[in-house]
Amino acid sequence: MIAEVIVDIAHSDIDKVFDYLILNSDVSLGSRVEVPFGRQKIEGFVIGIKESSDLPVEKIKPIISVLDDFPAISKNQLELAYFIKNRYHVPFALALRLFIPAELRGGRVKERIVSYASLNSSLSPIEMASSLRKGATAQANAIGFLNLQGKVKLSEINEKFGNSAIKALIEKGFVVVEQEKAGRQPYKELESFSKEVELTEEQKSAISSIENTDKTISLLFGVTGSGKTEVYLRLINDVLNNGKTAIMLVPEIALTPQMLRQLRARFGDNVSILHSGLSAGERYDEWLRLKTGEAKIAIGARSAVFAPLEDIGLIIIDEEHDGSYEAETSPRYKTIDIAIKRAEIYGSKLVLGSATPSIESYGKALSGEYNLAEMKNRINGKNLPDFIVADMRSEIRNGNESIFSSYLKEEIAKCLSSGNQAILFLNRRGYSQQVLCRDCGYVAKCENCDITLNYHRDSNLLKCHYCNASYRMLSACPECGSTNLSYSGTGTQKIVSELKRLFPDVGILRMDNDTTQTKEGHYNILKDFADKKADILVGTQMVAKGHDFPSVTLVGILDADMSLYFSDYRSGERTFQLITQVAGRSGRADKKGVVVLQTYNPSNSVLKFALNYDYKGFFERENSLRKSTGFPPYALILRVMIESEDDLTAMETLKKIYERIKPLYEENRNEFLFFNKMKSPVKRIKNKYRYQVLMRLHVNNSDIKDKIYSECLAFKTNKCLVYIEENPSSLF
Ligand code: ADP
Ligand code: ZN
Ligand code: ZN
Repeated sequence: MIAEVIVDIAHSDIDKVFDYLILNSDVSLGSRVEVPFGRQKIEGFVIGIKESSDLPVEKIKPIISVLDDFPAISKNQLELAYFIKNRYHVPFALALRLFIPAELRGGRVKERIVSYASLNSSLSPIEMASSLRKGATAQANAIGFLNLQGKVKLSEINEKFGNSAIKALIEKGFVVVEQEKAGRQPYKELESFSKEVELTEEQKSAISSIENTDKTISLLFGVTGSGKTEVYLRLINDVLNNGKTAIMLVPEIALTPQMLRQLRARFGDNVSILHSGLSAGERYDEWLRLKTGEAKIAIGARSAVFAPLEDIGLIIIDEEHDGSYEAETSPRYKTIDIAIKRAEIYGSKLVLGSATPSIESYGKALSGEYNLAEMKNRINGKNLPDFIVADMRSEIRNGNESIFSSYLKEEIAKCLSSGNQAILFLNRRGYSQQVLCRDCGYVAKCENCDITLNYHRDSNLLKCHYCNASYRMLSACPECGSTNLSYSGTGTQKIVSELKRLFPDVGILRMDNDTTQTKEGHYNILKDFADKKADILVGTQMVAKGHDFPSVTLVGILDADMSLYFSDYRSGERTFQLITQVAGRSGRADKKGVVVLQTYNPSNSVLKFALNYDYKGFFERENSLRKSTGFPPYALILRVMIESEDDLTAMETLKKIYERIKPLYEENRNEFLFFNKMKSPVKRIKNKYRYQVLMRLHVNNSDIKDKIYSECLAFKTNKCLVYIEENPSSLF
């Protein structure tokens, strides 16, 4: 037999199938194998098996070995990999790699084996003990101990009775050693937590609507605090009872410990966690538990959509609107697209959950393409928290130049004196955003990027938020020597130091990229806040995501305007979502909540819809705007990115690509809404100069799209990176 093998080198030159001879009967579809390739030996995936090859037999080399005890990739996963390869125009090897833990490749991680010791059951403990020479007390004690304990870790008795004593017992045949696989379970310390609840009528009807619809995809549109998690848990439970498996995706798993806790409480070891924060060994073990069928539920961030499960009954994407569902490196997939395809291949249901669905998803629910299940009320029966709008222009007019409006100060004081907790949200970390010389106008910028540096006071460094480079703080202007430097713009660190000044005795936690570098960083901060070790949590959008803190009655949004002015068609949508999500953290239990929203622009229509919790009004406006101006979902944005450390190379590649697709544009003018080449808004990042060809096309023209992909990607070289983004969520 002949195996068709994709060699695991993600280079488009060798993105083709090679034939190898099967000598080992363990080779099957989806196996990873070692094969000779030129003078090397490399790993590859078997993607097909056939009787014969078109090549002459003497030219076909045999497979050297099979790498795993099982085919790493299933038949259904292969089909999904084909889809990814074609949809995102990536080499097959790159698509296949998505399905296995990186650790499997190159055999870097093996299962952890633990040795256990027990007494030889065919001998009597008393006889064993009496046959020992006098003075061998350690050996005698070990026999006594094992007789009582049964099976014990070898390392444990070695430590207790000494290696030599145990070795002697093993040599005599008194003690037998067995090896077992040991799972390294992540988040072991997480207490499981579960509340037995009676479903509300809204939850019941959402569940029955999702289970009984004949549509594959359901949108669960439920306001914040409406109990979506409970709906997910019941759906998963029903799927398991039918002998099937489930995948649950969350935007960032470290941010959702309560989801994990509840899943663990209900489903115990049936739950497996996949995410990048785990150690290599943990990741491999969790993957293996799913692969072998030991665990039936995969929970994780976007990459868990590739979980090695079969018989999938249900895929859930919680907070489906979240930007983290888009991959930032090749293949630049959108998780929803993969989930839809996977649901189609496996015959599973797909549930998209959100309080603020994306314009695209809600549009599809309205048009009937998706089933719509709505939950309009909070579990506690309370209204959503009231907004207090602080007009920062009139604050300044009244002489308040601080970052806290008088309203916010007053509400913080009220909240603290009644023993409740507050969350303050500002979507910018660091202390101040810009360092400027007041005498000559010099602005501190990153050497690698065309970006101003942020001042971080805790480390006294200037940091670039694009490439993470840090620089020593300036004592004087490098241009004119003046010491008259100003710090403008506010970050989370400054909020904390201002709070400490205003409320000296108050406990404050800060959650942003700087404070969550360690594996359990998020978890520890969230836990301390839940345990009321602090009164106020200050943070970036991390604080907006899904948390359920019953004592939080105040949310402060320090700069509601910030995301409104990004040069991006989704900035209005993003602002609406962020405000609604972060506001939704307030007043979730029996106490009513408030939200103070600070803005320089209170009449802005996006803010107005958000203040009134008017998602539908917002949708109507945004949707008709996109339709009339030709933006997604009514158009497709394609951005061809060209990046090189050499400015000239990048510029020349840009010109060539532009000239190559121009005829396509000219022949199909009606299909294009926009076509031009330009510098990218941020001209340089990490030392790479950045250019782009930007296009907007009518949506249903995959022919032109495919041509653009193949024309452009051909220009990729070692010196010049070329890639294409579809409807990118930011255009920096
Ligand atoms: P959402 O994800 O929709 O914002 P959650 O799923 O976090 O809301 O639920 C909000 C709170 O309501 C949680 O504390 C949850 O335990 C609780 N809850 C959910 N369903 C019920 C129910 N049927 N009865 C009582 N409490 C519930
Ligand atoms: Zn200066
Ligand atoms: Zn930089």
